[in-house]
Amino acid sequence: MALGAEWGLRWLRSHGGYRKQEGQRQRGQGTPIWALPRAKKRLLWQLLLTAFGFLGLYLYGLRSLRSLEVFIPMGICPRATMPLLRDNFTGVLQHWARPEVLTCTSWAAPIIWDGTFDPQIAEQEARRQNLTIGLTVFAVGRYLEKYLEHFLDSAEQHFMVGQSVVYYVFTDRPEAVPYMTLGQGRVLRVERVQQENRWQDVSMARMRTLHEALGGQLGQEADYVFCLDVDQHFTSNFGPETLADLVAQLHAWHYHWPRWLLPYERDKRSAAALSFGEGDFYYHAALFGGSVAALRKLTAHCALGQQLDRERGVEAIWHDESHLNKFFWLYKPTKVLSPEFCWDLKIGWRTEIHTPRLLWEPKEYTLVRN
Ligand code: UDP
Ligand code: MN
Repeated sequence: MALGAEWGLRWLRSHGGYRKQEGQRQRGQGTPIWALPRAKKRLLWQLLLTAFGFLGLYLYGLRSLRSLEVFIPMGICPRATMPLLRDNFTGVLQHWARPEVLTCTSWAAPIIWDGTFDPQIAEQEARRQNLTIGLTVFAVGRYLEKYLEHFLDSAEQHFMVGQSVVYYVFTDRPEAVPYMTLGQGRVLRVERVQQENRWQDVSMARMRTLHEALGGQLGQEADYVFCLDVDQHFTSNFGPETLADLVAQLHAWHYHWPRWLLPYERDKRSAAALSFGEGDFYYHAALFGGSVAALRKLTAHCALGQQLDRERGVEAIWHDESHLNKFFWLYKPTKVLSPEFCWDLKIGWRTEIHTPRLLWEPKEYTLVRN
């Protein structure tokens, strides 16, 4: 009975409210919120609460959700593969030191994690071979003032300490490159490149420029070369344990993700396209390296892919990084660096990340991009 009365009252109220609303609409006035019928008020509240809920989840919740991704297993290196994973720089890798992470790829390349190698063996071997190691970096437009000095300063402290190093800085304003006092056996060369209209074009143009440089003086004076983004800095020893014929960096944001979720280019019209069954890992374009010959091949492949895309009027979703990922799918890296080698503090604290070697600078795109 009471329930029936309640429903009746509700019906009357809402019915009346509706008529009132109609009348107001006819007079051309909007209905104030407090005059809305109860059902509509409730709906409005529900919508508002859902919107705030999503906003909250977006701002705070996603981060905690993301931290759960560490529970997605990376896989385990098969025991039979372990002894195969040695090179002159690392010796036999100590896989047992890192049982919680994946220490090799399916094609038997080592994934280098902190604690699995002896940095002193690597240093001795590099000195014995009398290697010269190149480090290339682009600082075009506002990226120069914002990042270059800190990048080079930190490289002097941590990059291939005790080895012969040649820095190549590519910039549109050579005169603005800060003066640096370099350690013994270390030189810095500055090369002029042109500014592009779009930041994406600066990023992609690196492949062709690097290809040419590797075919010139850089290729003649260096044995191995690392090609890095400038918006990061070294925080710990980055030594010859990272050297190999073709070196790829696991992307800090994606190393736990299942393959089908990885942000590869999927548009078949692009030369960078990978279909859903393809791809091994998602690699970060902020760091790749290798021998001069291997990098000539890598940069030629990526530059050609970008050129073909331009002719077809398409652009890969993550630009040079998409083409790099396609290259590494076709030609497997011989050494893979764990995310410890290029880490983003924004991801937060993780037990499996021991000593980050490079840290991303906070993204300040409004300051540096056109
Ligand atoms: N870069 C530059 N000037 C530009 C755009 C890019 O010097 O206007 C270089 C710089 O070395 C930068 C790299 O290209 O680190 C890649 O661009 P960015 O770091 O902005 O890309 P993200 O890492 O955010 O994908
Ligand atoms: Mn970057």
